[in-house]
Formats: sequence, C-alpha cells, structure tokens
Amino acid sequence: MTNLPARLREHLAAEGLGEVVTPERVHRSEDGTRKLLLRLRDGATIETVLLPSVSGPGARAQLDADAAAADVDDDEDDTSEGNAAEGDAAPHVRVTQCISTQVGCAMGCTFCASGVAGLKRHLGPEEIAGQVLLGRAMLDEGEELRNVVYMGMGEPLHNYEATARSLRLLTHPEGINLSTRRVTVSTSGLVPEIARLGADFGGQIALAISLHASDNETRSRLMPINRKHPLDELLEALRAYPLPRRRRITIEYTLVAGQNDDPAEARRLVKLLRGLPVKINLIPMNPIEASSLGPPGLERVAAFQDVLTQAGYSCFVRRRRGDDVSAACGQLVLLGAKPKVRRALA
Ligand code: SAH
Ligand code: SF4
Repeated sequence: MTNLPARLREHLAAEGLGEVVTPERVHRSEDGTRKLLLRLRDGATIETVLLPSVSGPGARAQLDADAAAADVDDDEDDTSEGNAAEGDAAPHVRVTQCISTQVGCAMGCTFCASGVAGLKRHLGPEEIAGQVLLGRAMLDEGEELRNVVYMGMGEPLHNYEATARSLRLLTHPEGINLSTRRVTVSTSGLVPEIARLGADFGGQIALAISLHASDNETRSRLMPINRKHPLDELLEALRAYPLPRRRRITIEYTLVAGQNDDPAEARRLVKLLRGLPVKINLIPMNPIEASSLGPPGLERVAAFQDVLTQAGYSCFVRRRRGDDVSAACGQLVLLGAKPKVRRALA
C-alpha cells in the first residue's frame, strides 16, 4: 500500500498487518513458467507457480494443452468474460496460478515430494489467499490471472477451515473477485470434506480428484488415504457433489510405471467412472528425488489414453511444465532446499 505514508505502513506492519508471504526467489523456466519460493513469517517456505498460456490467433493448440494442464475448460461456457483477446492482434496471456495450502503434506502419497516430506504445518487463510495477491502483483505486462488451482504443496481439504476461508476471499466481489468456476480445489479424496465443500459453496467451486488407480489395492499402495476412504466411498461422494449443469469433475491420474499404467487399469477406470460427468487428465509422473518411481514410456501413456478416449471420455495428457526448475507438480521443494534440474526419464 504505497499510497499510505511510510510511518503508517511501519506501524501497520508492527501491528501484524504487513505482508504475510514474501517472495524469496523466482525461478523462471524456459517455457515461461515461474516458480516463486515464498517465505512465511515464521521462516517456513512454500511455493506457488505461475503458468502462463498464450491465447489469441494461432495459439489454439497451446491453449488446449494449457487448459488441460490447468484443469480448466477454457473453451466451455465461456461467454461472460475473457474472450477479449480473440481477434486482438497482440497476444494476450492468461495465467493459471497453482497455490499451496500446507507446508508439506500428511497424506504420504508415494510418488509425491510433499507427501514424502510429511506435514510441517497448515497455512492460514491469509497465507493461502496472500499467494494470489502476490502472484497477481508479479504478473508480466499483458498477463491476466485467470485461474487458480489448489494443486501446490499440501492437501487443501485436510486444512478445510483455512481453505474455505481463502476460497471466500478469492471469490468475493469485494475480495479478489475471481469467478468460482475458475477456482479449482484438488483433493486426494477426503470424503467428508468433499461433501462439506459441496454444501458450503453450492457445488460452485471446481473439483479435481487425484484418483491414480481404479482398484483399491493399487490405490492404497500409492495413496494411504484410500485405506480410510476407499474407492466406492469416494465415488459416492463424487456422485453426491452438487455440480452445476454442464460442469465436470476433473479426474487426475498420475501414471507411474509398473504401478497403475496397465491398459487393464484403464479399462477398469472406464467402468468405474461410468455415468459421472468427468474429464480425465493423465500426468506422466514427474520423477522426484526421494523415490525410484517414474513415468511410463510414451507408448504406454498413449495406449492408456486410447482406452479412455475410445470409451468416450475427454482425456488429455498433461504437458510437463517448468520441469527445468522443478516446478512441475509434485516437485515443489520444501524449506528452501535448492531446486534440482531434472529431466523426464521417458
Ligand atoms: N493434495 C492435493 C493437491 C496437491 S497435489 C491432491 O493430491 O490432489 C496436485 C496433483 O499433483 C495431484 O493430482 C497429485 O497426485 C499430483 N502429483 C503429486 N506428485 C506428483 C508427481 N511426482 N508427478 C506427477 N503428479 C504428481
Ligand atoms: Fe499430499 Fe497431494 Fe502430494 Fe498426496 S499428492 S502427498 S495429497 S500433496
């Protein structure tokens, strides 16, 4: 608030009303992705990622890829806003921001860097929404913050109160005023909180589910939460989610070589999801330091996708983005550790 006198700003900061997240480092990837390392007041660090996508003439293919990457249907019932770029000569850059809800994560998914690290603490609502304020302030010229995805470090629904409060701050007309359908909460499947989110926001918040398997044995091996809330319970919660008409739930499926990438698993998935309004994002696993697990080869990914596409599902393979700065999902580093330069195995 540089329009306030410096002494008043100092006073406000002393009262605890200063910045709650401070940018410590910005890593810019070759593909335009920016990963911000943020320091919290207690010294802990989190990360948030800005993912720009160029729209406008000639950028359709990239937009498709990015819509899938962002888990957002940029081409769906998009009449109210945001088409200003179409027909414009100057490219217009829409940015999706990925935000964190916890320092670390308690869920312990085997393929995820945050899960391997364990939970350090929950974030407060101001720390969650503060990432978006900061992200918005750090946009480049011509960029517009379009979508926010709760897909950074942590399990948003394990920190339900703060997540819900931050959602209100982000979507309130007198707050950051983002359209609810442009805000996506991703969860590993905390069933009671999925129902709570649906009830509290009337189904308006976009929902992404990290499924990663179509049978309980495989899912429990990859995601311990499945032992508490197995697949039938989770599917029941999805059927009960008060989704508005024409909207779909995003199913995230991280493909891990030799674990969940068999075409038979894809065929089971077809049956499991039958009747649910979903779109599926396949994410070849990003290698992480703490695990020997990795992505399947391209052919295996394509075969898996074919089964789903032929069954009539809308199914994208997510591009790796920001891989050269470890900004791709699941690679968000903890506590200021140096990002590693890693390349895809496949
Ligand atoms: N905790 C929430 C949101 C954060 S994780 C959740 O699990 O949904 C965001 C997404 O990244 C999830 O779908 C998660 O499964 C995926 N992910 C985590 N680690 C990954 C990795 N190493 N490679 C690819 N995807 C990963
Ligand atoms: Fe937590 Fe999501 Fe990572 Fe699982 S995938 S450990 S729920 S952040």
